[in-house]
Amino acid sequence: MARDAMFHPDFKAKPYWWEAYEPRATTLLELPKSARVVIVGAGYAGISTALELAKQGIEAVVLEANEPGFGASSRNAGFVGSYSNLSTRYGRKKQAGDDESEQQSHGDALDSGALVHRLIQEEGIDCHWSLPGHLIAAWTPRHYAGMAAKVAYLNAMADWGAALVPPERMREELATDFYHGAMVIAQSGLIHPALYYRGLLAACERRGVPVCAKAPVTRLADLGGKWRVETGRGAIEAGEVVIATNGYTGGATPQFKRRLVPIGSYMIATEELPEGMVQKLIPRGRSCTDSRRVLSYCRPAPDGRRLLFGGRVRFALTDPTETARLLHPLMLQRFPELDGIRITHGWTGTLGFTFDERSHMGRREGLHYALGCNGAGIAMMTYLGTQTGRKIARAANYRCSFDSPEFPSHPLYNGNPWFVPLVGQYFKARDWLDRKLS
Ligand SMILES: Cc1cc2nc3c(=O)[nH]c(=O)nc-3n(C[C@H](O)[C@H](O)[C@H](O)COP(=O)(O)OP(=O)(O)OC[C@H]3O[C@@H](n4cnc5c(N)ncnc54)[C@H](O)[C@@H]3O)c2cc1C
Repeated sequence: MARDAMFHPDFKAKPYWWEAYEPRATTLLELPKSARVVIVGAGYAGISTALELAKQGIEAVVLEANEPGFGASSRNAGFVGSYSNLSTRYGRKKQAGDDESEQQSHGDALDSGALVHRLIQEEGIDCHWSLPGHLIAAWTPRHYAGMAAKVAYLNAMADWGAALVPPERMREELATDFYHGAMVIAQSGLIHPALYYRGLLAACERRGVPVCAKAPVTRLADLGGKWRVETGRGAIEAGEVVIATNGYTGGATPQFKRRLVPIGSYMIATEELPEGMVQKLIPRGRSCTDSRRVLSYCRPAPDGRRLLFGGRVRFALTDPTETARLLHPLMLQRFPELDGIRITHGWTGTLGFTFDERSHMGRREGLHYALGCNGAGIAMMTYLGTQTGRKIARAANYRCSFDSPEFPSHPLYNGNPWFVPLVGQYFKARDWLDRKLS
């Protein structure tokens, strides 16, 4: 297919999800003069903090630089699982008590998926929830060989329901011979991410929580016991402040900017495929990633008619048309029968990575935070937001193994991610070499 023939004439450089819910500020809420709690960032983390605070009877205001849901929370792939937020604790020797705390983290990560499901039920959120499980396809035979230990480890840590898919059974999972076996994690769901977001937002609105769009926080001044939160639309006095800006964290909070590395992730949606084709491509309807360092992923659209495909093809590109051009050949490599099928949507979003590959919540320099999704934040950022709300409310059921004063940065990193494209190229080369030598 010629390079530009891959685009449908009605191609839109925006998320497919926005056909159902597009972040839009219809009326601009006036900023109150003061609030007990001000939350910066209206993604899953910020909104679920506000929702939990409202349930606990604590008044909070959410400030969003753009429109509510503008960030990754309305742009992601909709895979609900948090087994990848737990880090491999690079460069750190195991210490006494590590196994127990690791088990607690796995327990909390598993709970985070259950929390999403519970919120969907309690708030009546229609977002196409299902629990088909998640497939991680092996990029090389060696990756597959390493999966047996991962499966055993995950199942020992929590009831993830991990299992191997041997190479000869791969066609039961994916209509491709591109991979060398896989592992499945049964405890993993799928949602329509923007509808889930809209449902959480509506739950806040029903409880009277002001979510103020177009209110970028530009400065936070510690007044001793309270905060002055300055925005592009005026200032608010706050008893406590929660930072929930993840991959979009900016200069107003340099202490967090230097702990988060923003990384782009990109997606495309195909036009409607012939009846039954999506089911043929992904027979069990699971979410799928692969085991490359620079991973790619896919899933069926909720209507079962389109394939949604994504990856981190480049690291500093933000033009969705350009990223769609890069993703398309990767999709065809895996599913050659999609040749001739056109792309209707292409979009980008930003993730927040941490130096220890773990998600974090806690308090630093007086500011609460829930940050660092490491690529998987639907469940985890909902969970950390909810736990942050409980912590502020001093709720009896507050307990979270991700709440820790440790939130590493790097001595040479000041928040400018200039090195990301270089590291990305290096990882791509390693992926290529792994495959070549396999
Ligand atoms: C393409 C893509 C695919 C993904 N796929 C998955 C997936 O399948 N499963 C999964 O679990 N996760 C996935 N993720 C990650 C997931 O979307 C995020 O982890 C999650 O949405 C983060 O939520 P959040 O609330 O922490 O941040 P965000 O939703 O990014 O919200 C942060 C908000 O803060 C606002 N903000 C920033 N600075 C300021 C300021 N100074 N003042 C006011 N507001 C500010 C931003 O405008 C933004 O709206 C994906 C992400 C992308 C981009």
